[in-house]
Amino acid sequence: MKSLKHLFDRNSAWANGIKEKDPEFFSQLSKQQSPKYLWIGCSDSRVPANQIVNLPPGELFVHRNIANLVVHTDLNCLSVIQYAVEVLKVKHIIICGHYGCGGIKAAMENQPHGLIDNWLRHIKDVGRFNAEKLNGLKDDKKFDMLCELNVIEQVKNVCNTTIVQNTWRQGSELLVHGWIYNIQNGILKDLDTCISANQQLKGK
Ligand SMILES: [Zn+2]
Repeated sequence: MKSLKHLFDRNSAWANGIKEKDPEFFSQLSKQQSPKYLWIGCSDSRVPANQIVNLPPGELFVHRNIANLVVHTDLNCLSVIQYAVEVLKVKHIIICGHYGCGGIKAAMENQPHGLIDNWLRHIKDVGRFNAEKLNGLKDDKKFDMLCELNVIEQVKNVCNTTIVQNTWRQGSELLVHGWIYNIQNGILKDLDTCISANQQLKGK
């Protein structure tokens, strides 16, 4: 017996709906993918990458983890970036954080959460790097600000990967964007932190 039958029902309804509009959609897409964007976002169920930017399958290459972190030694994330840039030739990497992020909130607390605290450590570091901006802010403002600062820090981390550095060294075009999503109204905001060359990275 198939478990979670309702999800299979939803799947066939979804696939049939797409095929009704475009009978060739899946057969065409099965031949190749050529997404233009790599999306690095939070695992939060309220922040589904394709739906937020209203793009169909095939248009976004996606990596998600708790609090949209790009950790210098995370082979999973680095492999996604390498494949996206070197094989799929994406020209845009989007780091998308969101307000109300549970990972950021947990990192602001001083209570233990178990294994995940090792991951959250990276967010605590972002707080430490930006202590001057955060000190004195009320809790709500500090939470929002840390969600934004975390995105900006991850943009820098992406730029500092060997993959992006090599791409720029070769003179190829590659832009790294920092966005934040508001789960209260569904609206994306550009944090105006886009970096497309090493000169722009200096001093950031
Ligand atoms: Zn989150």
